[in-house]
Amino acid sequence: MSIRGLIFDLDGTLVDSSLDFEQMRREMGLPPESPLLESLAKMSAADAERCHAILQRHEGAGAERAVLMPGVAAFLTEAATRGIRCAVFTRNGREVARRTLERLGLRFEIVVAREDAPIKPDPAGIRAICKSWELSPDEVAMVGDYRFDIIAGRQAGVKTVCYAARRTAAEVESWGADFCLACFSAPETFWKWARHPRVGSI
Ligand SMILES: [Mg+2]
Repeated sequence: MSIRGLIFDLDGTLVDSSLDFEQMRREMGLPPESPLLESLAKMSAADAERCHAILQRHEGAGAERAVLMPGVAAFLTEAATRGIRCAVFTRNGREVARRTLERLGLRFEIVVAREDAPIKPDPAGIRAICKSWELSPDEVAMVGDYRFDIIAGRQAGVKTVCYAARRTAAEVESWGADFCLACFSAPETFWKWARHPRVGSI
């Protein structure tokens, strides 16, 4: 069954906000590589408030300096030409996502932010988008640059696409996405795959 809907991660996939996650963790007093949102959820109210302010300051600055990943605008135009619907599912806050997309001139019929659904890797946001589109998971792919995107997609039963421009071969391999997109600027093999997607076709 051909792909009729694409759900994109935002930061690191459609855009580069140059967020320094390790700097955020240092400011929050969190150990390296700990997941930010999950860590915040476990904090006392006072700590969570302090750390939310740090997160919002960094994300707000990221929204103002974000740039499109190469080839994204043309890729989205091509998707529209092919009648493929597009949505965003992000762990960012709603206002940050809205500001980022508006600044960069991107429009999506659906944007699911962290206030709108359980955060990735929870698949609920993906299921909600499929339902809203009235598409079966078979006809939809989740496109993202991190393992949470791939896990969420797999759990929702959609196809998974790893945007791998900044990922190591080992990371991409271990996440086991159905398709590996090296670059939005050279999408020919992706469009071919999207017409006849096969699971595990990397
Ligand atoms: Mg990302």
